[in-house]
Amino acid sequence: MNDAKGLNKVLAVLGAFALLGLSGCGQEAVIETDSSIQATTEQTSGSVNEEGAEEHLDYEDQDEWVFESGEMQSPINIETGAAEAMATDGSLTLDYAEEIIDVIDNGHSIEIEDGGQAIIAGRSFELAQFHLHSPSEHTVDGESFPIELHFVHKAQDGRLAVIAVFFKEGTENAAFQAILDDVEANEESTVASGLSLNVAELLPANKSYYHYLGSLTTPPLTENVEWYVLANPVEVSAEQIAAFNEYYDGNNREVQPLGERSVLKYEE
Ligand SMILES: [Zn+2]
Repeated sequence: MNDAKGLNKVLAVLGAFALLGLSGCGQEAVIETDSSIQATTEQTSGSVNEEGAEEHLDYEDQDEWVFESGEMQSPINIETGAAEAMATDGSLTLDYAEEIIDVIDNGHSIEIEDGGQAIIAGRSFELAQFHLHSPSEHTVDGESFPIELHFVHKAQDGRLAVIAVFFKEGTENAAFQAILDDVEANEESTVASGLSLNVAELLPANKSYYHYLGSLTTPPLTENVEWYVLANPVEVSAEQIAAFNEYYDGNNREVQPLGERSVLKYEE
């Protein structure tokens, strides 16, 4: 029973997003229905004809129900001028462990397995790992950065949240150097190095960010991932960017259409 309920909820949410993507007749269908989510689901899953009348769901043929997704993908280009001020307190409190579990070259990125906690807008997430893309996956007003770091978090209920940090060329970054050195020193080793890292050096002091709902940027491209793209980049040296590019240069997914989604701005 609970599973069925859960599925209905998922379908309802996906249906709601699908409706946002429809023009004219789809939106009229929303207005005509009552406000319950279940009714919205039925409107969405049943096909809507030209006159706005819809066929009802066929509960005898549930395998044929259409499962919509793909409208909420990441990364995106962030248009700063179009970002809406966040109406609620979205403050970030990050407390990441300095004892690194392992640094791994996983074949598509350098990934650092780490623990710790993030409080995002009052909700608690556990850090699972962070990894790097070059060049950046997100762009800001069309501008790309040399590197983008993704802190990947999971909440107790399984919700995913990624905090993204841009790296730009500037002064050398000691924490980033420690990661590069560890990868080089332990390339052939399967044993964890026991690296100790001042993770705070990989974050800007001011944690203003852009927020939107997107997806993982590698398969299975799972949607409903919360993105927090920090507005202020951290500096790394040109030599460090070149050193990272020896491992990865071009492990960035192309930007995806924003569609009907909003991008919010939180100013710290
Ligand atoms: Zn990533």
